Amino acid sequence: MNRPALRPLDDALAALLAQARPLADTESVPTFEADGRVLAEDLVSALQVPPQDNSSMDGYAVRRAEIADEGVPLPVSQRIPAGAAPQPLQPGTVARIFTGAPVPEGADAIVMQEDTQALDDGRVRILKVPAAGEWIRRSGEDITRGSTVLARGERLGPAAQGLAASIGRERVQVARRPRVALFSTGDELVMPGQVAPEAMKPGAIYNSNRFFLRSLLLRLGCEVRDLGIVPDNRAATIEALREAARDNDLILTSGGVSVGEEDHIKPAVQQLGSLDLWQIAMKPGKPFAYGKVADAHFIGLPGNPVSSFVTFLLLVRPFLLKLQGAARVTPVAVQLPANFDWARPDKRREFLRARRDAEGRLALFPNQSSGVLTSTVWADGLIDVPAGSTIARGDPVRFLPLAELLA
Ligand code: AMP
Ligand code: MG
Repeated sequence: MNRPALRPLDDALAALLAQARPLADTESVPTFEADGRVLAEDLVSALQVPPQDNSSMDGYAVRRAEIADEGVPLPVSQRIPAGAAPQPLQPGTVARIFTGAPVPEGADAIVMQEDTQALDDGRVRILKVPAAGEWIRRSGEDITRGSTVLARGERLGPAAQGLAASIGRERVQVARRPRVALFSTGDELVMPGQVAPEAMKPGAIYNSNRFFLRSLLLRLGCEVRDLGIVPDNRAATIEALREAARDNDLILTSGGVSVGEEDHIKPAVQQLGSLDLWQIAMKPGKPFAYGKVADAHFIGLPGNPVSSFVTFLLLVRPFLLKLQGAARVTPVAVQLPANFDWARPDKRREFLRARRDAEGRLALFPNQSSGVLTSTVWADGLIDVPAGSTIARGDPVRFLPLAELLA
C-alpha cells in the first residue's frame, strides 16, 4: 500500500481556516461577562479618559510662577478630594489636592506632599520648585474622544473589560458562542467514577481526553454538548454523529481516525457527509480528520492524549477563534535558548513539551511520547522543531507558551 504524502502543518491549518467562515450571529453581553469573548463591534469612546486633568499625587496644586524659590509659604485656599468639582485657584494660594482629583483652573503643577511642610498658621511651605505639569495626568492621556479603543475581532480579557468599562460600556456586542458536540471513541475507555482503579478490567483505561477537550472548548467560549463515549462500531458512531450534527457548529471527536479496522470515524462520517483524513507532518498528532456532517463541521482528533491536546491547540483553537471572528488566531512565538541537546531529527515537525527555567532557558520533559500526558502538565510551552533538525544546547528555539494557547 502506498503511503500518502504527509501534509505540512501550515497547509493543514490554512485548509482548515479556509473552511471556518465566521458565525453570522452576534449577541449583546454585559461587559462583566465578556471575558474570553470576541468583539463584534468597534468600541469607540464618547469621552476623554481621564475626563479632566487630574492629580496623580496627594499634595498641593500650585501656580508655578508664584514659586520662584524653594521654601515659599503660601495659604491653602481650598481642599479638593477625588470626585470634587474645584473652584479656580485663587492667585497667591495653593489648593490641597488628592490623587485622582481634578486640577483647579489656574494651577499648572502639583507638588507632592512629601515636598511640602505644613505650618502651624495653616499655610504650607513648598520645598521644591515644580516642573511644568508635574504630577498632572492630562485629560485624554489614556483615551481621546472619538478614538477606537478596541477593534472588532479583539478577544476580550480582564484588561479589555476594564477598558470597555472606562469608556462607559455596560454591554458589548460579541460573536455568539460556537456550539460544539464532543465525543470520545474507544471500547477501552471508562469514565472516572464508573469503575474504581483497582477494579479496572485488563485493557481498560480512563477517558482523559474528554476532560481536557471539554475544558479547552469552554475556555474558548464554546457551548459544549458532551455526548460521552461512543463504542467502536459503525452503527453507534453513525448514531452519535447524527445526534451531534443537530444544532451544532462543530462536532469534535477523539480517537478512531487512524486507518485500522477499529477506526470507524472515517466510514461513518463519509456515510453521512464528507470527510478527508489528513496525515499531518507533525509529531505528536499525525492523524487528523476534517469533514462535514449536514451543516456541522467535523474535526476528528487522534486518540493519543498528547496528540489530541497538541492538535487541539494548534489546529482546533485557531479554527474556533476564526468562527468567532477573532483577528488573531495563532499564538505569538518567542525565541529562547535550549538547555538540552536534541539529536533525533524527525521527518515530521515536532512539538516538544518544555519548561522555562529561572534563567529563561528551556528544559525538556524526559519522555516525549504521545501517550504521556504528564509531559503536558509539566510543560509551560511547546518547542517547535522544524522537520529534520537537531538542537544543540544554547541554540535559540521557537517556543509557544502554553499560557497563551490555553487562554
Ligand atoms: P486511537 O486513535 O483510537 O487509535 O487511539 C490511540 C491511543 O489513544 C490508544 O492507545 C487509545 O487507547 C488512546 N485513547 C484514545 N482515546 C482516548 C481517551 N479519550 N482518553 C485516553 N486515551 C485515549
Ligand atoms: Mg480507538
